[in-house]
Amino acid sequence: MPNTATYDCPVCSTTYPAARPIWRCACGGHLNLGPGPGLGRDDINGADASLWRYRAGLAVGGMPRVSLGEGWTPLVTRDWDGAPVRFKLESQMPTGSFKDRGTAVMLNHLLEVGVGPIHEDSSGNAGSSLATYAAAAGLRCRIYVPATAPRAKIVQIAAAGAEVRAIAGSRQAVTEAALAATGGSFYASHNWHPFFIEGTKTLAYELWEQLGFQAPDNILVPTGYGSNILGLDRGFDELARRGEITRRPRLFAVQAENCAAFAAAWVAGAADYVPFVPQATVADGIATVKPVRTAEVLMALRHSQGGVVAVPEAEIGPALIALGRLGLFVEPTAATAGAALSQLLRDGTIGPDQTTIAVLTGHGLKAADKIGELLGRS
Ligand SMILES: [Zn+2]
Repeated sequence: MPNTATYDCPVCSTTYPAARPIWRCACGGHLNLGPGPGLGRDDINGADASLWRYRAGLAVGGMPRVSLGEGWTPLVTRDWDGAPVRFKLESQMPTGSFKDRGTAVMLNHLLEVGVGPIHEDSSGNAGSSLATYAAAAGLRCRIYVPATAPRAKIVQIAAAGAEVRAIAGSRQAVTEAALAATGGSFYASHNWHPFFIEGTKTLAYELWEQLGFQAPDNILVPTGYGSNILGLDRGFDELARRGEITRRPRLFAVQAENCAAFAAAWVAGAADYVPFVPQATVADGIATVKPVRTAEVLMALRHSQGGVVAVPEAEIGPALIALGRLGLFVEPTAATAGAALSQLLRDGTIGPDQTTIAVLTGHGLKAADKIGELLGRS
């Protein structure tokens, strides 16, 4: 099947066919994938226990060339502050984080349109995901990471055979290093490439199917750049347009108060990025200073009638320990969802009678050293 998808630049309105590997517009703006045909319940291949059961709704032409069984993660109900909450265990992906949804779909698209060596920058999880899928596809891969990235994530990248470039300084400095890379390698950035969001949209499909073809009332997602928020927005929008759902869930972007770009814009009532002063946070996976699609994420949150929850640093560790005692072993970034749940239940924004999803984005083994310190076992 030929790829007829198109990219639109929200800055200069140029449209491109998605049939060759590009990651941004000639004007420097980011690209968004045009609306897809969506998915109906009869289009699902129920025999496939991975996100490729939704292949009919994805802008990828043929069968996937590389898959590690990503997607179709467990949805388990546990009691949280007296409310039944459904936890979506994206931590149980092949590389231990939600990134595999986006990586698998992005990489299969890139293989389809023709790509050679690839590189990208990452705080850790996206890098280990891309390195792993590149290894599975037989592609050469180089990952730029902060020198301070959790050791387990760097080890995971190296174990996949990718070249690791540790960069001192801020997260932004790591991005600059990747952007300055030369030598014919393609910048396969999970933060820039539109097909990463095409992959994360399967989270919406999957929640809808696992809830018996119903949309939940609320979804809480730890948010750095916002690819899960944008994927959920895209997926539920497609389901609504196909008549599969009649109401959309409220989306809540969960951030660490110490580094909260979306919270800064939300509080200011702004439609786009608002400068703020970032501070260190234990939630390294969402310590994003300058998201690529700030306006789109804010619009998705407003459109869903959800919002942004900024979690105080002191509440992240206790939430992680409380999740652990429910059998949910997650990294500090994912534990922000637990702290946000408590906040929204306490102030009545969400009720115990509603269907609420907390997305647990990354596995505890990703940050065992840091969790050991929280437990007094350093
Ligand atoms: Zn442009």
